[in-house]
Amino acid sequence: EEQVLAIRKEHSITVLGKDVPAPITSFNELDAVEYKLLPRLKENILSFGYEQPTPIQMQALPVLLKDRALMACAPTGSGKTLAFLTPIINGLRSHRTTGLRALVLAPTRELAQQIYRACIELTKSTGLRTHIISKASEASQHYGPECKQKYDILVSTPNRVRFLLQQQPPLLDFKGIEWFVLDEADRLMEEGQNNFKEQLDDIYAACTHSQKRVAFFSATYTVPVAKWALRHLKNLVRVTIGVQNS
Ligand code: ADP
Ligand code: ADP
Ligand code: MG
Repeated sequence: EEQVLAIRKEHSITVLGKDVPAPITSFNELDAVEYKLLPRLKENILSFGYEQPTPIQMQALPVLLKDRALMACAPTGSGKTLAFLTPIINGLRSHRTTGLRALVLAPTRELAQQIYRACIELTKSTGLRTHIISKASEASQHYGPECKQKYDILVSTPNRVRFLLQQQPPLLDFKGIEWFVLDEADRLMEEGQNNFKEQLDDIYAACTHSQKRVAFFSATYTVPVAKWALRHLKNLVRVTIGVQNS
């Protein structure tokens, strides 16, 4: 209602989509029953000492905690990592030996490392286990049937994941992936030399879980990302922080 619009206006939050959940303005609002936030996860977030959620966190957290598909655009340095890791961790709840349930892809190894480190912090004392693929060539020792049972969350660049999927037999099993997240999706889908698009399609196709949640995060709004999202995702919410640039 009016208050919701005022909050969005104040923080330059633009939304597109049907029945977009209201933004939050404090992490304490996540205690509401509708979000079922794990107490331990809440403690981990509060332990960082952030005074309030950033604009992208204000809007993306409610959207993703309510299991909606999301395409999010917010400037560099605006706290996107927490905005996608929190709902993943909350959705997975606790460690299971059934195999990988969340996949986060980023365009460079360095970015993957940063996400991995943030995930280790945020999953503290939850029991959830996160893995980052460092060398595809060392994969046979770490993956296959064993890896499936060790980790809940996987962070990687697309190349390595696709390489492992293409082995016979495949060294990764994505049938249990419930969360599919692209960070820096604008860069991942950029046309040109390092075109990840084909890899992404292969990887997405391997994630056959019928109820998987999908989220794309970028610094800029780009047509390839919007096209992909609109083509593949039902009931999509789009969130842009600041000036929409295309
Ligand atoms: P982005 O992915 O949007 O570029 P990051 O997720 O890397 O941004 O976050 C940038 C910095 O902001 C990090 O150092 C992170 O710890 C910090 N940060 C995240 N959320 C908040 C918040 N709510 N308040 C203050 N700082 C935050
Ligand atoms: P590393 O830094 O350990 O080399 P890479 O992600 O580059 O990690 O992958 C390691 C190996 O996996 C490469 O030597 C390459 O043979 C193979 N590989 C990676 N991505 C692909 C791909 N998309 N198609 C085929 N082979 C790949
Ligand atoms: Mg980022």
